[in-house]
Amino acid sequence: MSTALVLGGGLAGFLAAAALAPHARQVTVIERGNLPDGPVPRREVPQGHFGHILLGGGADALDSLLPGTVDALHAAGAHHRRIPSGLLMRLGPGWLPDHDSTAYLIACSRHLLDHVVRERLSGLAVAVRTRISVLGLLGGAGRVDGVLVENPDGTRETLPADLVVDATGRHSRTPEWLRTLGSEEVREETVDAGLAYAARLFDAPGGNDGFPVVSIVPVPGRRAPGRGATVIPIEGGRWIVTLSGTRGGEPSRSEAGFDAFLGSLDHPVVRGLVRAARPIGPIRTCRSTLNRRRFYEDGGPAGLTAVGDAVAALNPVYGHGMTVAAQCAAAMRAVLRGEGLHPGVGASIQRRIAQVIDTPWNMAKEQDRGFPGAQSNGLSANGPMDRLARRYGDRLARAALTDPAVSAAYFDVFALTAPASRLAAPAVAFAALRPRRRRPPTAAEAIGRHRRVVELAGQL
Ligand SMILES: Cc1cc2nc3c(=O)[nH]c(=O)nc-3n(C[C@H](O)[C@H](O)[C@H](O)COP(=O)(O)OP(=O)(O)OC[C@H]3O[C@@H](n4cnc5c(N)ncnc54)[C@H](O)[C@@H]3O)c2cc1C
Repeated sequence: MSTALVLGGGLAGFLAAAALAPHARQVTVIERGNLPDGPVPRREVPQGHFGHILLGGGADALDSLLPGTVDALHAAGAHHRRIPSGLLMRLGPGWLPDHDSTAYLIACSRHLLDHVVRERLSGLAVAVRTRISVLGLLGGAGRVDGVLVENPDGTRETLPADLVVDATGRHSRTPEWLRTLGSEEVREETVDAGLAYAARLFDAPGGNDGFPVVSIVPVPGRRAPGRGATVIPIEGGRWIVTLSGTRGGEPSRSEAGFDAFLGSLDHPVVRGLVRAARPIGPIRTCRSTLNRRRFYEDGGPAGLTAVGDAVAALNPVYGHGMTVAAQCAAAMRAVLRGEGLHPGVGASIQRRIAQVIDTPWNMAKEQDRGFPGAQSNGLSANGPMDRLARRYGDRLARAALTDPAVSAAYFDVFALTAPASRLAAPAVAFAALRPRRRRPPTAAEAIGRHRRVVELAGQL
């Protein structure tokens, strides 16, 4: 059996370590920060202060890698919500219906999720070394065979490995490190809607039992910046309220700016809820929302693979990042079960991971290109077939609000529990393309389904 080094002790790194453990003589996670014992913030994962939902496809993958995690999350106060019936959400074409569907999400703080994952990983044969920074890769142009690290006392050390897994997140420096080894440039695609976040914790008046995830989603294609807000019920009877605005419509950090932003949204429901709740923390802002995909599957060196945000950092507004991290690890496990752990397996894993990334990547970049001032590095296709696909996507989104069959397929694909091909199934395509006979719920109908929202914000 071989050895594996996982760079980064975030969600993607820990889940990759869980996938590697049965196949390696030794798996070591190298993390530059501290890993706390409880569900508390980590400086190295600043996005943890912002609302995080885990979609069904991610929860299923997580639970298959570390069985019992989802039950442990629920026992610690995480909330399970069906999609769309457990959501009060306004998309571009209208409010979500309460159609039945198998799609779901888990809502809790990011701190809790990471803590539960760390606890469950501690039962596996994985070594975790903290306060150690990776400085570079070792090997040559065609083969990575270890890493150079810096210890807490400033000394440097080389660590050999048969497989190095980059899970260092959105700011991964692997392309730069590969350049110094003489490897070919890693192809990269970026799309940036310039989205900024502002978030704040609130005490949920009366607790979160039966309280939906409430969201006004930023709408592309309007010649005005996209603006949205989401209330996520989390453990401890709290909400995380997150505002999001694309370039030119960014939320501010001030109290008055927070309220004014809520007042500028398409609908006042989130403002009504926020005014009924007590803030219990500062307003925090974040601008790390660029979509960036690195195409390591084109042919990187042997002995290396990249997972999670290190390979595909997605605009967080779509809530796909953690699901991608979990599905990358599940893809890695599937390949390891077939091939075992050897230096060449990195390429097979990367190809499988590319399939995992395709759907959320295409969704995010297509949406984000529709916001004013969106910037891309020019690799995004925009030919007639792309425009046709976009129009079909718009029809699907509208039909998902009125047709139960389209709704089921649409939200299963969105939750990454079904492949995108399900949206091209004849029954779904027919329903999406035929003239609509039904209308989506009105705001009053959608809000009226959620008694707690009506009690707090009024019928609006
Ligand atoms: C504001 C915001 C909101 C989000 N909301 C959602 C959501 O609702 N749902 C969702 O699914 N996703 C969401 N995401 C995305 C999600 O946070 C990421 O997809 C996820 O954290 C990726 O995990 P990761 O392990 O790849 O990276 P990270 O969580 O960034 O972890 C990387 C780890 O690597 C370590 N590291 C980095 N460099 C080195 C080095 N040189 N040496 C050693 N260690 C190193 C870091 O310390 C860190 O621990 C959101 C992101 C943001 C910014």
